[in-house]
Amino acid sequence: MELNNIIETENSFDADAKAVSNLQELENVRLKYLGKKGLIADIMTKFREVPAEQKREFGQKVNALKSKIENAIEEIKLDLAKKQIEEEIKNTKMFDYSLPVDTNTGSLNPRTIIQKQVVDIFKDMGFVIEDGCEIETEYNNFESVNVPKNHPARDMQDTFWLSNGQLLKTQTSAAQNRILRDYGPVCKVIFPGRVFRNEALDARHENTFFQLEGVVVGKNITVANLIYFEKAMLKALFKKDIEVRLRPGFFPFTEPSYEMDARCPFCSGRGCHTCGNSGWIELCPCGMIHPNVLKMGGINPDEYNGFAFGLGFDRLVMIRTNLDDIRYLNSNNLKVMSQFKTKM
Ligand SMILES: [Zn+2]
Repeated sequence: MELNNIIETENSFDADAKAVSNLQELENVRLKYLGKKGLIADIMTKFREVPAEQKREFGQKVNALKSKIENAIEEIKLDLAKKQIEEEIKNTKMFDYSLPVDTNTGSLNPRTIIQKQVVDIFKDMGFVIEDGCEIETEYNNFESVNVPKNHPARDMQDTFWLSNGQLLKTQTSAAQNRILRDYGPVCKVIFPGRVFRNEALDARHENTFFQLEGVVVGKNITVANLIYFEKAMLKALFKKDIEVRLRPGFFPFTEPSYEMDARCPFCSGRGCHTCGNSGWIELCPCGMIHPNVLKMGGINPDEYNGFAFGLGFDRLVMIRTNLDDIRYLNSNNLKVMSQFKTKM
């Protein structure tokens, strides 16, 4: 009678095990057979009623069934886990590495393209490329380039001041003092960089823009040298001779100071949208380095002189591309950016 009970329990377990489809059902089956009040425990309570000559066989059969159930449950558990992983893999969209690559995506910011072109041109003319810090001291940004406290020029450059008294550099000239000290009285250096002004934004004004400053120091340097290098740069950039003109300018770091204009490369001076019908495009402030600036850079202004200029990359990009809103350059608007691949 009790042996039959074991066989019935085994058959019942086989049927239950076959029907299991998830871990919860499996746990229910485990409790049903192996739980404290489960069927195996139930059978064990009847051990006392088994006739003495059958006790040995009965014990062996119950133990065998118990082991079988335990092993089967472990196996089903592994099987369910495997099925779950397979299901997850099936439902995951896998990246297909064999698909052809779309090499047309991605392009450089037009400002990066112009910067590289201009830097390469100056490098070819023997200039050294330098870098500057974006966080600067008040001394480097203003005083060392002859803009003392209370100088009106400070008001023209609304400055982002930091709580420690330092500032975000408002002009690449902030590196000039360090460069004059590092290179000494005979040097040809350009230093491109990002500059910051606390300005209201509109189509022509950004709070973050890119400049390139250049200095040449030596003996008997003249304005003619300055014009030569600027014209050479323009010729290399626009692939044609471009006339320049100097207008008087007023900057504390140079004396005399000039505004350099370039003959509009699009209308050759006849007047067009890009040059506002004037035939000329403002290119860069420039001039002969002020003796005070040389002195503060450790250079004797009685013996040496030099020129400095500050090119705005954003302006160059707008000239080259006819882009009418400077804010696009910092926007990373892909629709706008991707158009420049073919234009530059
Ligand atoms: Zn024009």
